[in-house]
Amino acid sequence: MRNLYAKYTEDDLWLIKESEWVRKLQSIRESQFSLGNGYLGTRGVLEEIPYDSMPGTYICGVYDKLTAQVTEMVNFPNPINFRLTVNGEKLDVVAMDVVRHRRTLNTKKGLLLRHTVYSDSKKKQYDYQSLRFISMHNKNIGVLRIAVTSLDKDCVLDINTGIDTSIWNAGVLTEGRKKHFRVRELGQYRNAGFLVTDTFEKRYTVLFWSGFYYQVNGKKAVFAKENIFKLKLKKGQTVTFTKVFYIKHFNYLKDTRAQKTKTFNEFYKVFHAKFDDILSRHIKAWNKLWKKSDIVVKGTANLQQNLRFNIYHLLIAGHYNNGFSSIGARMLSGEGYRGHIFWDADIFIMPFFLFTFPLYAKNMLLYRYRILDAARKNAKNNGYKGAMYSWESADTGEEETPQWAKDIDGSIIKIYTHKLEHHITADIAYAVYKYYQVTDDGDFMDKYGYEIIFETARFWASRLEYDRRRKKYVINNVIGPDEFHIRVNNNFYTNVMAKWNLITAFKYYQEFKNRNKKTAQKLFRKIDLTAKEAKSWHKLSTLLFVPKISKSKDNIIEQFAGYFKLKDVSLRETDENGIPILPPHVKTDDLSKTQLVKQPDVIMALILLSDVFIDRTKIANYRFYIEKVVHKSSLSAGMHALLASRCYDMHRAYTLFNVSLRADLSNIYGNSREGIHGASLGATWQALVFGFAGVSIKKDMLFISPHLPRSWHSLIFSLLFRGKLIKLEIKSESVKIKVISPKVKALNIGIFNKIYRLRTNKLYSFRKKAKENRRWC
Ligand code: BGC
Repeated sequence: MRNLYAKYTEDDLWLIKESEWVRKLQSIRESQFSLGNGYLGTRGVLEEIPYDSMPGTYICGVYDKLTAQVTEMVNFPNPINFRLTVNGEKLDVVAMDVVRHRRTLNTKKGLLLRHTVYSDSKKKQYDYQSLRFISMHNKNIGVLRIAVTSLDKDCVLDINTGIDTSIWNAGVLTEGRKKHFRVRELGQYRNAGFLVTDTFEKRYTVLFWSGFYYQVNGKKAVFAKENIFKLKLKKGQTVTFTKVFYIKHFNYLKDTRAQKTKTFNEFYKVFHAKFDDILSRHIKAWNKLWKKSDIVVKGTANLQQNLRFNIYHLLIAGHYNNGFSSIGARMLSGEGYRGHIFWDADIFIMPFFLFTFPLYAKNMLLYRYRILDAARKNAKNNGYKGAMYSWESADTGEEETPQWAKDIDGSIIKIYTHKLEHHITADIAYAVYKYYQVTDDGDFMDKYGYEIIFETARFWASRLEYDRRRKKYVINNVIGPDEFHIRVNNNFYTNVMAKWNLITAFKYYQEFKNRNKKTAQKLFRKIDLTAKEAKSWHKLSTLLFVPKISKSKDNIIEQFAGYFKLKDVSLRETDENGIPILPPHVKTDDLSKTQLVKQPDVIMALILLSDVFIDRTKIANYRFYIEKVVHKSSLSAGMHALLASRCYDMHRAYTLFNVSLRADLSNIYGNSREGIHGASLGATWQALVFGFAGVSIKKDMLFISPHLPRSWHSLIFSLLFRGKLIKLEIKSESVKIKVISPKVKALNIGIFNKIYRLRTNKLYSFRKKAKENRRWC
């Protein structure tokens, strides 16, 4: 039987393939093959929903709590549900023999394609092909097309579809599965089925529509009135089912009639449109996304499609909804971390959007602004001032960290991050600063950004403790990014970011006053901010103790007070991915007594505050901490790859980049079934753009200083910087650049450490000179 969707499975550089059905990989594939459009996310389940599959249908920002420990992203009824029985036997990868099976994720067009040949108990074969997408053009729409051919004999097909309401959140640890919605209405209207659900706690009303039609041998579309019916199929005949579904959420609707009519009309228009038209509008929307975000890597095999897989998953998470939501740690592809939002969003994921779709980056910060009051309350409840952001947040901004979670060895441990991992408050302020630096969006700052920066500085001012012996302020009792060590004092990352937050708030206070006096005074009045208080931030920042660059220890910075006294464990062995293996004598419980670190901590500060530290410090600390880190977080490898490439450790940079790149494609962290690791996608992008391509911003100017892995020929991509499109073709020894802008005539850009004034809309080529060989860190 020919491949009906062959034209979507030809361009290898855009395809992620599954070439056989392997039961134990099923839930991992479901995460990898997720489809979405920023509003809706659906896991890549097989349409027959075989035993053990984990259907997931998520709406961005819709959470619920009820009986759960903490709020979680709701798993809604499943529209990707199409069960077929042939002569009484279910067409199913578990129930029948699978003769051939292939699935392909076409990342360019946002399509999931499938071709399976089944054999029943009498050895009769059936060809099954499907194409599926969640429309990027119309955010409420999803489409499924299935073609079935009976290869050996006439048969009777039983079809059972509709929207499956027997769906639960998977449930974590000791909590069982949980349902977060109740079915309020269910019915049929003009060849379509509808479903109305309400979530239990937050009482969101969600309206679903679904309908399908079928064609036999390409002829005559018949609209199915029921979700369950029979169909006779002759040997060699192909029946094609096309199912269109529609999903939209509302604040609780007391009376659903008006919205049912409205949404039905929206649904019906698409349902009756030509399939090819719906598909081509979807593909066009994808083309627009890729135009701004694709990165072409020349000269190396396999890497290209893996990279596009990473960018694809970022693209299906990006959205603008006026700050209603941000992006959860596993985005909309699974229930890991219950859909909660961490610093992963602001520090790891946001930079990608900042340089490609700044509106989506803005949305992430609007979310932080929307929950600013919750952060103020959080500070107050903890005895502090200003705004203290929750370590894990969902829709309200309240603290959502559960009491218990799984440790890296699978054991269940008590969690302290929400009580102690305070650095997130500075991380969010830093994300605001980055947004301003890259977009120059003064309006955003006036309305939202300054307020976040001032309130977070206030938090730090109240968080500091005075140490009489040192005659300095200190920050005691925290968890830094390295979560192996809890309740530490003067964690370098936390202190240096707090210091940065205080200085920046003081600087912004002056800047705002001068730039937009009236608006500034209004905000100062609103939040009761005086010049005296702003000045005090400056003073506190100068008096805040930051672990020193220790000359006696070859410029190494002590990660926190007492870190150097901990046991030094050497990591000799690595696994097949090049990740260090914990020596057998080091038990998980003992990690806190060692110098081993979970993920970048000092290194993270050196990356974020790159301008503040000299190269010597960066190189020395990179060399020291790279021997201590065991990368037990998916946030780790990409960031180390970034600094490794800036420090010329190209072999390690390449190895770690690959780990980050394949985090979910190869299930490196063993938990991809719970969803795709958003931070790892973002870190991969940062390693490539800020690491290998050497893009950085210094004093509001863009710099490019590339250093590619030896096997790479070139990188071709573009970035948005302050409203200008920067098109780049980068090689290790050369940079081709064109700045596109209808508004300005020229722009200063640093290339290979020298500043040039480039006219816009003109192509320039630069070659690295021998004396420019020295790279910044
Ligand atoms: C990491 C955190 C991260 C969280 C969510 C943890 O394992 O240590 O830094 O924010 O996972 O991805």
